[in-house]
Amino acid sequence: MTSAKKKIAVIGGGISGLTAAYTLSKQDAFDITLFESQDRVGGHAHTYRHNGVNMDTTVISFHEQAYPNFVRLIKELGVYGETQRFKQDLCFHTDKGVEFMMTYKAAGMLAKPMTIFKTVASLKKLSRGVVENVRNSGIDSLNFYEFLQQIRMSEYEITCLVVPMVHMFVGLPPAEIRQMPARFLVEHLYHHKLLHHSSLTAWRGWENGTITYISRLQESIKGRVHTGANVRSIERTAGGKVLVHHKNQPTQEFDAVIVATPPASALRLLKEPTRLEHRILSPWKYSTLRMSIHKDKSVLPSRSIHRGFWNPFIDPRGDRCGASYLVSKLHPRLDKDVVVSWAPIQPIDSSKEIHARDVEIARYTAEALSTHKEMPALNEQRHGIYYCGAHFGYGWHEAGVESGLKVVARLSKDWEGK
Ligand SMILES: Cc1cc2nc3c(=O)[nH]c(=O)nc-3n(C[C@H](O)[C@H](O)[C@H](O)COP(=O)(O)OP(=O)(O)OC[C@H]3O[C@@H](n4cnc5c(N)ncnc54)[C@H](O)[C@@H]3O)c2cc1C
Repeated sequence: MTSAKKKIAVIGGGISGLTAAYTLSKQDAFDITLFESQDRVGGHAHTYRHNGVNMDTTVISFHEQAYPNFVRLIKELGVYGETQRFKQDLCFHTDKGVEFMMTYKAAGMLAKPMTIFKTVASLKKLSRGVVENVRNSGIDSLNFYEFLQQIRMSEYEITCLVVPMVHMFVGLPPAEIRQMPARFLVEHLYHHKLLHHSSLTAWRGWENGTITYISRLQESIKGRVHTGANVRSIERTAGGKVLVHHKNQPTQEFDAVIVATPPASALRLLKEPTRLEHRILSPWKYSTLRMSIHKDKSVLPSRSIHRGFWNPFIDPRGDRCGASYLVSKLHPRLDKDVVVSWAPIQPIDSSKEIHARDVEIARYTAEALSTHKEMPALNEQRHGIYYCGAHFGYGWHEAGVESGLKVVARLSKDWEGK
């Protein structure tokens, strides 16, 4: 490597871009600049402050065993000790009442013994189907609905239990969840151990919010981090450099750029996408998910004894679902009656709403996921533009960190000896 530092830009300050910028900045050979369009870094990891208490509204938890790279990262940053185990029980309800319930509380079990029994039986069936088929290539041609039918889940179980559960982590409407490739969801459920009873207690969250590790990551990047810096486009030059065009600042030149935005924005940034970039990125689209923080209990199961941390609500007639969670279980210093709702179906009383915003999410549709296997090829192009993001994997923090580490390894290798 020559003595001059290579100038690298990272676009996007979510967990993926922050991981890439932090890891790359540990190598003296690189000079790092991160651009984030919002006025804060973190992307989906966003901590909101209410009455002097931090609360998480989107990214809230991680699974100790299923997030090895993320756990290593937060240990290295010295913030692992600020996490806490918390229990995630669930109550799936409709306007008729409670349909399914996963709980560890004796009072909850005693209140609805038949519902608990029914839930355990349905989850066992689903879990068996997932374990038996995770390595079965026969499911590669099936969509999720066909898979669920094959393992004999009933329409009722699919509508009121399985689809609302998946909705909580992909945010797509039920009809699209049914169409998703079975392989992706079966592996997701398997790797994240989502169907084990032990998974109710294996998740950890942050008493002071995800801002704990996000700000530590930001401080630890040896380089420049610009927030409020909306990149308009990027362009490869004939001389092998990459130009970064901003909305409100002069254009800057870099030796390489790492794009850590969601895939649909990544394509929009490229002035002249290669054929490969177009093929892989164009099937990815956005959805907007409404997130509301409020004190309107009408979105929860009517009896408090039935309420879980998570309370998915299902409207089977409209084929819709949303979820509300009791956020004080994660942040005990918060008022007990604060609720966070994602994609709420029931109207929320505006006089009880504290804050609301729209969150953009990548749509993990069948078409988008058909590009998944080929996605690592984006980083083999050696054209000065590299990519990372949680969409390289199952869409969660572990995938974001892993993709950030991988892109750094690839870029460092490409620049060895240059
Ligand atoms: C409601 C919800 C709840 C979730 N809960 C969890 C959870 O509990 N645990 C978990 O592990 N995962 C959770 N996830 C998944 C989460 O999306 C991923 O874990 C991860 O945070 C995604 O990180 P990322 O860096 O890939 O993308 P993002 O977080 O989307 O970051 C991309 C960044 O790029 C920026 N950007 C975009 N365009 C530009 C531009 N032109 N110029 C500059 N900057 C730009 C954006 O502003 C953003 O900050 C949740 C997701 C949602 C939507």
